[in-house]
Amino acid sequence: MKKITIAWLYPNLMSIYGDYGNVLTLKKRIEWRGIKTEILEINFDNTIKLQKVDIILMGGGQDRQQAIVVQDMLNNKRKILQEAHQKGIPGLFACGGYQLLGHFYHPLCDDEFNEFNPANFEKKMSSFKFTPGKGADIPGLKIFPQYTIHYGNKKPRCIGNIVTEINNEFQTEINKISKPVTTLVGFENHGGRTYFLSGKDKNLGKVIKGWGNNGEDETEGIVSNNFLGTYLHGFLIKNPHVADFLISKALEIKYGETKIQPLDDSLEWQTHEKVKDLVLNKSKNF
Ligand code: GLN
Repeated sequence: MKKITIAWLYPNLMSIYGDYGNVLTLKKRIEWRGIKTEILEINFDNTIKLQKVDIILMGGGQDRQQAIVVQDMLNNKRKILQEAHQKGIPGLFACGGYQLLGHFYHPLCDDEFNEFNPANFEKKMSSFKFTPGKGADIPGLKIFPQYTIHYGNKKPRCIGNIVTEINNEFQTEINKISKPVTTLVGFENHGGRTYFLSGKDKNLGKVIKGWGNNGEDETEGIVSNNFLGTYLHGFLIKNPHVADFLISKALEIKYGETKIQPLDDSLEWQTHEKVKDLVLNKSKNF
C-alpha cells in the first residue's frame, strides 16, 4: 500500500493559530485517496528522519519561539531542508516558519528606521537573541530570497482575514491537479513584514484584501520550487487546491504519479467561497 510521510516541524513551539490543521487536512485528503500516512513530529532530536519524508510542514510562532528553534534549524536542519528544497520535496511554511527560511528577521531600532539597508545589515547579522518587547533578532536559513523586519510600534501589526489572487505561474500548476480556483483565503496575525531581496515574481499571491507580506507591495507569500511560504493561517482546509498541490508533488516524486484522484470536497469549496465573500463583501464585524 502506498504511504506518504509528513514531517511536522517543532509541533510544540511552532504551531500557533491552529496550524496543526494543515497536518490534519493533508492526512485526511491523502487517506481519502486510499493512501497510508505517517506524521513525523520533528523536534530538536530526530533530525535524521527529515531525510526520508515526502511533505514538510511548519507552522507559525511567537518571536521568542522563533529565536529558540532557528538555532537548531541553522545548526542541524539547514542542509537537509536545502536538499529537500532542491529535490522538489513539497513543503508549506506558515508565518513564523516562513520568516525563518528567509535571510534574517530583525526588529528595527530607532536609529535604523530611516536608512536601513538589508545588504549592509546581513554582514553584521550574527545574533540569536530574543529581547522582550523588542522581538527576535535572528539569522534565517537563506532558502527564500527574502528578509523580515519588525517595526515595533512604528507600524501596526498585520491582523485580519485575507484574500489573495494566486500568481499566474503557480495557477498553471494548480490547474493541472485541481479546480481552476484563482483565490486563496485565510487569516493573518504577524508583526514581521517580509520583503523580497530581488524580483517579486515568486510571490504565492497578490493581495486583494488584507496585509500580505508587508502591507506595501501587494505580495503575499512565496513559491520557491515546491516550497510554499505564506502568512495565511487556517490555510489548507480552506484552500483544497493548495493541499492537493502538495499531495500531487509528493506522489509524483515518490511514485511518478502525474494525476491525482478528485475528492468530493464540496464542503471545503463552499467554505472557501463563503470566507471570500465575507472578506470581500463583508459586514464590518467579520
Ligand atoms: N512572530 C512572528 C511575527 O510576529 C510570526 C507570527 C506568527 O507566526 N503568526 O511576525
